[in-house]
Amino acid sequence: MLSDQTFRLFVDGSWVDGAKGSYAVVNPATEQVVAEAPEAGVDQVGDAVAAARAAFPAWSRRSAAERGELLRRLADAFEKRIPDLVPLVQAETGATMRVAKTLQVTQCALRFRRYAQLANEDHDIALPPAVMPNTPLAKGGLIGALAARQPVGVVACITPYNFPLTNMAGKVAPALATGNTVVVKPAPQDPLAVIRFAEAAEESGLPPGVFNVVTGSGAETGQALVEADIDMVSFTGSTPVGQRIGETAGRDMKRLLLELGGKGAAVVFDDADLGSAVAGIGSTWSFHSGQICTAPTRVIAHRSIHDELVAKLAGYAGYLKVGDPLADDTVVGPVITKTQRDRVEALLESGRQDGAEVVVGGARPQTESGYYVAPTLLTGVKNEWRVAQEEFFGPVVVVEVFDDEDEAVALANGSPFGLYDYVWTGDASRGYRVARQLRSGNVGINTVQRNNEAPFGGFKMSGVGRDGGVFGLHAYSELQSIVWPS
Ligand code: NAP
Ligand code: MG
Repeated sequence: MLSDQTFRLFVDGSWVDGAKGSYAVVNPATEQVVAEAPEAGVDQVGDAVAAARAAFPAWSRRSAAERGELLRRLADAFEKRIPDLVPLVQAETGATMRVAKTLQVTQCALRFRRYAQLANEDHDIALPPAVMPNTPLAKGGLIGALAARQPVGVVACITPYNFPLTNMAGKVAPALATGNTVVVKPAPQDPLAVIRFAEAAEESGLPPGVFNVVTGSGAETGQALVEADIDMVSFTGSTPVGQRIGETAGRDMKRLLLELGGKGAAVVFDDADLGSAVAGIGSTWSFHSGQICTAPTRVIAHRSIHDELVAKLAGYAGYLKVGDPLADDTVVGPVITKTQRDRVEALLESGRQDGAEVVVGGARPQTESGYYVAPTLLTGVKNEWRVAQEEFFGPVVVVEVFDDEDEAVALANGSPFGLYDYVWTGDASRGYRVARQLRSGNVGINTVQRNNEAPFGGFKMSGVGRDGGVFGLHAYSELQSIVWPS
């Protein structure tokens, strides 16, 4: 075991053992146990929700500036722990060191700092007075109104395994900034760093019950949380689970923020800078083993540059070192579990059966341990095949061909998902024109870089709602109209 530390649930400001014991969290590279995580009982999920409910009135009535100050202290307390947290989150996620240090940990702190700052700004919307006529309802006059942002209440934050701390921060920071209280349910594969994060919450002086963490190895914990007396579910994960959550939440009109699966199209035109396209598309292999919902996994290439692009992508993929995520020169680490590797391999096999050509990869890398998938490139893919329609969530890129712009748009839009699409072209007006036709919540033109202030979320089966920057504050608030006569 890497860690002899004990991990407990954090409920109402106290550390409690899982009523159902514990379960092993496994390092995806070594297959060794990292530590035991608590297995919460359904009653403990209820306790966490009750604590969040009880803490809500006082927390929501604090000034936004006070809440911002607490978030800042939380970020400070978290940053002190970074040297301990990097090895822990690395071990439980299997991330390479480069990813572990940056997107797994530093980005978490930045998110708390950003929302601490945004909490200090006024997000209510003052409306111009309206001249209202006399009606049978009420006397006419000059009527003033304010659109005030009110917290939703108790928010369940349910997160996926790929970026446990950062994803949690993207929910918890805006939710707390706007005066909500939260119960966090991390993914079963890697909940340990999130539990450590709760120590920072405790140290920062957040009142008991404002921030709670419950964990468990199976769907029961999350399900109990969604069914409990909460006001909103903020969920990031797969589309099938999002659908189930939506059905359950709909019964009590619980508010929803759902960030679900993706199958990012990367449309590459004949005038594109192919070096830039290859670097962007190649991030599906080189960044966290392709376990990222926004990855450009589905290349739609103009026929005239198809062969050159494929040759360049093959060169890039072949050059990436797969293996021990702790080694400095490793670029591609393992995927999270054996189950996930088996899923990726089964989907690859369906591509072979359908007639795709495996240009690079396709075979399981020979390693002593770990759940590895080689960077893989499939060409000759038809849009209706499973490999073009379903998520791999692994280091696999598929390539389709188009002849004209309308066909490219139709292929890109021919997906149940609509999370993040990309366009590579040397013609800025074409890039913009095509972006506006893509049925996707986000479009990158000639880049996979993000703007963290931009709204983030999906069209179609990729989800409901937006967060990111100030949009995160909007997501965790209800608009209340306050109206008065002059
Ligand atoms: P997942 O299997 O859907 O699980 C996500 C979370 O939901 C886990 O905490 C899981 O815990 C919980 N869960 C499962 N069933 C539940 C239920 N019935 N009620 C409540 N909670 C439940 O997703 P994953 O495998 O961790 O992550 C990969 C997926 O996330 C991919 O589809 C990827 O595209 C998506 N993703 C989307 C975004 C985005 O922003 N759009 C970002 C990252 C990842 P248990 O497994 O213990 O049930
Ligand atoms: Mg799962």
